[in-house]
Amino acid sequence: MKKSISIVIPVHNEAENVPLVYRAVKAVLDTLPTYTHEIIFINDGSRDGSQTAIDALTTEDVIVRGIEFTRNFGKEAATTAGIRESVGDAVICLDADLQHPPSLIPEFVKHWEGGAEVVVGMRSSNNGEGMVKRWGSKLFYAIMSHISETEMHSGETDYRLLDRSVADAFSPLSERGRMTRSLINWLGFHKETVS
Ligand code: UDP
Ligand code: MG
Repeated sequence: MKKSISIVIPVHNEAENVPLVYRAVKAVLDTLPTYTHEIIFINDGSRDGSQTAIDALTTEDVIVRGIEFTRNFGKEAATTAGIRESVGDAVICLDADLQHPPSLIPEFVKHWEGGAEVVVGMRSSNNGEGMVKRWGSKLFYAIMSHISETEMHSGETDYRLLDRSVADAFSPLSERGRMTRSLINWLGFHKETVS
C-alpha cells in the first residue's frame, strides 16, 4: 500500500492565495506519485471569499478537504484542527500566503524517509524585516528558551513535517494560547531541519 502525505493549510482572508497555493502544492505533489495525497484547508473565520475559493477546490479535486470555523480562532487553533483531521503517514503544515515554498516538500519527505520524525523549515534570513522586528524576534526566543524547558531556535518556522506518531502525540494536547511549534518541540521526537 502507498504511504500518504497530508498537507494542512490554515486560511484567514486568503481568497486570492487559496487557488495559488493549491496549484503550487499540487504541482509538487504530482512529482511524488509513490504517495497518496490530501490537502486540508482550514478556514479560520475569513471575512473575504476564502470559503468560496476552498469550496471550488473541494468540488474540483477529491484530494482537497475543507474545515470551516465559525469565527476566527487564530492560526494555532486552525493548524491543530487540520492536524487532528489529517490521516497521512506524514503531515506537512504550511501557510496559505506562499511564504513557505511548496518546492521544499520533496526535501521534507526525504528527511522523513531517512528517519526524521519532525522536519522543520528554517527561515533563511530576515530579509525585508526591520531592525526592530529582528531584535524583537531574537529577544523573544532568548526569553522563551530561558523560561521554558523546551529549547527554541529563532530560525524555526511553522513550516514543518510531522510523522504520524508525532501528529497522534500532538493531537490530544489541550493547551490554550498554544504555540504549535514549541509544543511539537516539547514532545521530543527526532528532529531535522531544511532551509
Ligand atoms: N492565519 C490563520 N488565522 C489567523 C491568522 C493567520 O489561519 O488568525 C493563517 C494565514 O492565512 C496564513 C498563516 O496562518 O496561512 C500565517 O499567517 P500570517 O501570514 O498572517 O503570519 P506570519 O506570516 O506573520 O507568520
Ligand atoms: Mg505570512
